[in-house]
Amino acid sequence: AISTSTVIGRANPGGGRRVPVGLKKPPMRIVVTGGAGFVGSHLVDKLIARGDSVIVIDNFFTGRKENLVHLFGNPRFELIRHDVIEPILLEVDQIYHLACPASPVHYKYNPIKTIKTNVMGTLNMLGLAKRIGARFLLTSTSEVYGDPLEHPQKETYWGHVNPIGVRSCYDEGKRTAETLTMDYHRGAEVEVRIARIFNTYGPRMCIDDGRVVSNFVAQALRRQPMTVYGDGKQTRSFQFVSDLVDGLVTLMESEHIGPFNLGNPGEFTMLELAEVVKETVDPSATIDFKPNTADDPHMRKPDITKAMEFLNWAPKISLREGLPLMVIYHLGLTISGPKVEQF
Ligand code: NAD
Ligand code: UDP
Ligand code: UDP
Repeated sequence: AISTSTVIGRANPGGGRRVPVGLKKPPMRIVVTGGAGFVGSHLVDKLIARGDSVIVIDNFFTGRKENLVHLFGNPRFELIRHDVIEPILLEVDQIYHLACPASPVHYKYNPIKTIKTNVMGTLNMLGLAKRIGARFLLTSTSEVYGDPLEHPQKETYWGHVNPIGVRSCYDEGKRTAETLTMDYHRGAEVEVRIARIFNTYGPRMCIDDGRVVSNFVAQALRRQPMTVYGDGKQTRSFQFVSDLVDGLVTLMESEHIGPFNLGNPGEFTMLELAEVVKETVDPSATIDFKPNTADDPHMRKPDITKAMEFLNWAPKISLREGLPLMVIYHLGLTISGPKVEQF
């Protein structure tokens, strides 16, 4: 265990300072783990724009400095190369814990590292939150529902997950992370929040990320066939990244623990998605059917009633509106290297 003698005063227990009505909340110090990644970098932009100070912890496994380079030199921004599997000492008000590879291609690349990140990484960040009295938000996933037998999925559904499959490092890892989060809440009085994120896409997703939206867009732009796995009838619901980031911040600032589904209920088969990419990028784009991967969930669609009711949150951007924004970003990448503008 780490010595507690290093506590330099509790900046703002739980980030929940009582602010008199009418006064603006004072700026906070916030850790974002995984902040160099796709979702994390957009979240950091929002927090910096709001006036907070942000410390990013990232080991650059799937994240990139390019996603944050526009913030270098900002005195309210710090970037620490660190693996969350190792303990760390910091003094902050809030912790957004995102560090974890999210694409099946990446998380299956080193499953032991993935489960260590989910279990030991989450444990360390909860230990940090406990020591300094920070509020902690876990980015969990719709994968905790596994190959669901309930459709659409509500937060009350316990899931249908294979504990020994090739996806288990990720979905069982996130389920354990949720358990740890609730145990630190109940057992150590840490203020916690849990978001269950459904498939999200947008600018700064790596072009070789391996997830379906970035694959189809990259393939259509390169005039290669779009690779549909299996028969293409499996469904997913796709959320634009700015909607997710709004939901994460709203949840963190709310008085509700969750878990909350954060996703866009618009549901598409992979063949329908390929059709939308075709309309958006290249009407002559073709499809190449490939064998499906093991344990691929057949369908996924969030029931977001709970988030609408308690957080007053709902996604605003449809797939047909969001996809062109991603295409513009990827076009920029193929022409001139990574883009750093904000979205
Ligand atoms: P991403 O791969 O772009 O970002 C993950 C970030 O975490 C990267 O910057 C990576 O370098 C960092 N990281 C990974 N392991 C680490 C470690 N051990 N120590 C420190 N940093 C580490 O993925 P993303 O899409 O931005 O996902 C962010 C979070 O949201 C993840 O926790 C993911 O499980 C969750 N999520 C995302 C989606 C989605 O569709 N994007 C869906 C459900 C859940
Ligand atoms: N931890 C950390 N930073 C801190 C406090 C704790 O990284 O500021 C780590 C700590 O090293 C441990 C984990 O968080 O591995 C859980 O901490 P906790 O105090 O809950 O457990 P203990 O150290 O008593 O086992
Ligand atoms: N998929 C596909 N072609 C690809 C990549 C993925 O048809 O090039 C399918 C995959 O089999 C799954 C769905 O798209 O059914 C979503 O996969 P992704 O990896 O994006 O996310 P998941 O929801 O599985 O984590």
